Amino acid sequence: MQASRYHGQRDVRVDDVDDPTLGPDEVRIEVDSCGICGSDLHEYVAGPIFVPDRDPHPLTGERLPITMGHEFGGVITAVGDGVSTHEKGQAVAVNPIVWCGECRYCVEGKYHLCESVGFVGLSGGGGGFSERVTVPAVQAVPLPDGVPTEHGALVEPFSVGLHAVRRSGLQAGDSVAVFGSGPIGLAVVQAARAAGAGRIFVSEPREARRSLARESGADDLVDPTETDPVEYVHAETGGGTDVTFEVAGIETTFKQALETAKADGRVTIVSIFEGEISMHPNTIVLGERAVTGTLAYLGGPLSDREFGAVLRLFGDGELDPEALVTARIDLPDVVDEGFDELLDGESEHVKILVRP
Ligand SMILES: [Zn+2]
Ligand SMILES: [Zn+2]
Repeated sequence: MQASRYHGQRDVRVDDVDDPTLGPDEVRIEVDSCGICGSDLHEYVAGPIFVPDRDPHPLTGERLPITMGHEFGGVITAVGDGVSTHEKGQAVAVNPIVWCGECRYCVEGKYHLCESVGFVGLSGGGGGFSERVTVPAVQAVPLPDGVPTEHGALVEPFSVGLHAVRRSGLQAGDSVAVFGSGPIGLAVVQAARAAGAGRIFVSEPREARRSLARESGADDLVDPTETDPVEYVHAETGGGTDVTFEVAGIETTFKQALETAKADGRVTIVSIFEGEISMHPNTIVLGERAVTGTLAYLGGPLSDREFGAVLRLFGDGELDPEALVTARIDLPDVVDEGFDELLDGESEHVKILVRP
């Protein structure tokens, strides 16, 4: 079968590989769609970061070349021995977290913080940029009736957004500011809206992304190249929002997220940064602000907790996955029409789905 594999920096190829074997407690999935993620782009231009390079991943035992794609869904075509929870023909979204089950975080149920954490599509175990994948059945979360199979690919980024909102402690009616409205920023906006947020501000330099933020439920849009978002939000809210989210991963937006939160407000950092930044700690101390990190979503035996919640919200229309999708492409075009397109700073694309 065809699979798009990471061989090294700027070296992603569509290879012919063997079909994955089906073990006990696993399901085989015919991939319908797989989203291209910001972390795929990071691996491509600056990697290997998550992809095991010299040493094999401790849980998958694999090193590059690695099949990419961790945001995917499809239809089950076979179930392994011992699987009674799933059946052939079922549409599922895959929770890609790979966990050890033995470290202190796994014992505490925080599988996404596992000391050996990995992701299907980055750490081995196949990936969504291929025709077929096998995963443990517990990682295959069934789609409710009415949710198109294709939207299985959007459950992962929306789970990042949902988990971030849960981590933020957002209460119904709270005012919110979101810095950056790429795919995860948009998912945060939608999850905050679904959680009952009050007024939502979004600061984003790209026009196309601001208009998607509007579609996703933002009330106020700021172009930070023209208006100082901190001053604007302070003026509009009488001194800052209850909650802010940093979803751009640069020093400027980190500081803006801190300064835009009111005193006693809560700041949630969603981005992964490429390096150190400088900031004044008193911004946190003098306003008694709380700063929280958020990573991924619940996984392992809890794979269906946040994935399932997202799917129910897809089904109810509370979350709108289609608002993120700007293109659909075929597997052989993943680099030219996918990675390269998204890396173009002028691009209007947000989420590109690959159809193997
Ligand atoms: Zn992702
Ligand atoms: Zn563990």
